[in-house]
Amino acid sequence: MESGMVSVDRWTAGSQVYFLTHLHADHLSGLTSKWSRGPLYCSRITAKLFPIKFPGFDLSLLHIVEIGQWHSVSLLSPSSGSSTAVSFMAIDAHHCPGI
Ligand SMILES: [Zn+2]
Repeated sequence: MESGMVSVDRWTAGSQVYFLTHLHADHLSGLTSKWSRGPLYCSRITAKLFPIKFPGFDLSLLHIVEIGQWHSVSLLSPSSGSSTAVSFMAIDAHHCPGI
């Protein structure tokens, strides 16, 4: 996949969508209550805990990824500008969600 499309547990500018695997501190460097770089995909439990960790965060940026279900987003290829469908599924790692 080209750079500039998807970031996972990385919060710098330059991606079209962002994924948060879980709320442990080592995955949150650069993520703050004021972060607003794009849609953020996470599990339902992470979304539920999100306001505790990041009070005032714009919760409209959060998109729930249901465990074990395929999801899809349409992104633009940075090189060609063409639309690209990206499919993804969250798998429960049986790791504690954390806050
Ligand atoms: Zn962890």
